[in-house]
Order: sequence, then C-alpha cells, then structure tokens
Amino acid sequence: MKALVLGNHKAYVEDVPEPQPHGEWVVVKIESTPICGSDKTPFLSETEVRTAGHEGAGVVVKTAGSSRVKEGDRVIINPLSGCGHCDLCLSGNYILCPDKPEFYTHFAQYVLVQDFVLTPLPDDISYDIGSMACCALGPAFRSIKRMNVKAFDTLLITGLGPVGMGATVIAKFLGARVIAVESVPFRQKMAKEIGADFVLNPMDKDINEQIKKAAGADPLLKAIDASGNSAAERLCIDSVQPNGVVAFVGENHSQISICPSDDFIRKNLTLIGSWHYDINDREEMYALLRHCENVGRLVTDVYGFSQVQEAFDKFMGGDTCKVILKPWE
Ligand SMILES: [Zn+2]
Ligand SMILES: [Zn+2]
Repeated sequence: MKALVLGNHKAYVEDVPEPQPHGEWVVVKIESTPICGSDKTPFLSETEVRTAGHEGAGVVVKTAGSSRVKEGDRVIINPLSGCGHCDLCLSGNYILCPDKPEFYTHFAQYVLVQDFVLTPLPDDISYDIGSMACCALGPAFRSIKRMNVKAFDTLLITGLGPVGMGATVIAKFLGARVIAVESVPFRQKMAKEIGADFVLNPMDKDINEQIKKAAGADPLLKAIDASGNSAAERLCIDSVQPNGVVAFVGENHSQISICPSDDFIRKNLTLIGSWHYDINDREEMYALLRHCENVGRLVTDVYGFSQVQEAFDKFMGGDTCKVILKPWE
C-alpha cells in the first residue's frame, strides 16, 4: 500500500506492507485524511517522519475479533490512541490517556487502529465532512461545550487556522457573536465569509481597544485561543471581563507569564485547556456535521496522494483552511 513520508520540506509516497488486524486492532481503508497544523512539524523536520497524520474517515476492511466494529462499517478515525482499559479511555476521553501504544500514520491507504477510537460515520455524511470531526471541529467543539457558548454570547477567537475557523463555524451556528483576530489576509477574508462579525488584525497596536469597541455594550466573557501564540493567549486573558473564561486550544509548548492576583483573583477568571472532544458526544457532532452547511466550507483544498508535495506546499503557504488528502487518487 501507499503511505506518506514527511521531512526536510518534502512529502512523498512510498510502498509499505499492508497492516494486518489483531485483537481490538482493526484495519481501516482511508478515504479522506486531512492535514493538521501539527503536521507542519514533521514536514519541516530534518529527519524523515513516517508517523504523521492523525485525522481521517474511511471504512473498516479487516477485523480479527473486534466486538465494537465489523467489516464494511463506515467510520471516523479519531486522532491518536489510548490504552483502551483505563477510566479515561472507557469514559470516551481516551485522548487524555497517558498510556498510548504505538501510533500508525493516517497518511496511508490503510491504517491499523484500535476499534475504540472509531466512531460510526452515518450514511448521510460524506467521508470528507466526517473527517472534519477530528481536528477541524473536535478541539473547538469541546471548548465551546465546556464554556456553554450560546445565542447572544460574544466570543473572542484568536487564530483563524482550521481550529479557529472551526470554532467560528460552531459559535455562529449556535447564534453567538464572534470577534475574530487573525493576521493572514486569506484567513481574514474567509473568517468574514463564514460569518465572523468582526475580523481584527493582531498586528494593530490598538488591538485591545479594537476588541473592546467591537464587543460594545455586550459583556465579553468568553475567549478561545486557537493560535498557540503567546501574545494571543495574553490578549484573550486581558480582553475578557471579570467572571470570564478563556480556553487554550492552540498548541503552545512555550511559557507565558501570568499574574495570579491581577489576571485571576481580582477578575474571578477561569482558564481552561481543551483538547479533543469526548467521543460520547458524537451524536451532537453528527448533528453539527449534518446541519451546519459552513462545515463544508472549512475544506478549501483536496489533493490526491499523487500531488502530495503540492498539497503540503499550499498548506504551508497559509492560504488554506482544511486540506484533505485522498490516498487512492
Ligand atoms: Zn490534528
Ligand atoms: Zn487509557
């Protein structure tokens, strides 16, 4: 079968043996596998990486004793893995399991995957749209649910990459007002097209004032950072009013400084971290995929494996939202 290799600014296809099922590990034929922002790291790596790619949708083609799925099942392949037996895994939050077994790339024609990370893909939802349940919507979905974003709320979203764009789509679907903060012109334009009420540029010196002005008389109590940029995270903390809540969703492995008294105690602020969604909430996710037509607009580019270098070059340029790879084309 064909699988991708990333590294040194290159993406190419190589032939590798097809995986075989055993126990709870089943083989899924991948029909759609989106590129994630985190795949930039292996693409830029100085060594070749064969384990990138963790989003996808496809059909179960081989099992060997699985009690959860059968051959022919259409499935969403949720990101990463878990031990499958601890409380976190059994509760639907396997993504938080500290005991992750070996992980196989979803950038392949077939993937060997544990059956409990698969959720059924209803027949009326396409593979491309189903694959949006992973990183395009999953992290935003969880944070929006935890913050109880609803109609008439004003929500600040910093970073309009695929996750921030997904958060905008969900928040607008729920009837909230969105103040989006993004510097890339393509993404500014797209944020407006999918309904963001204000699109502001974080490079402007008076960005804090602009956010205040955009919120107007409505309280700004909820913010999501999807950029993973320290300055944007700080902007979220500074922008929400007392009793507000800020969700960190964009990955950022560096440090930001926080003053417990000024930032938290005297603002009664809540700061949450939010990763992927609880897969027990899948029925709500299906409803979103089914009824929110803007979910389809998150997909800006589709490339076959035969054009994978072009796909990554376009994605790295930033003028995209979700780029989907098709392993059989
Ligand atoms: Zn991802
Ligand atoms: Zn576990």
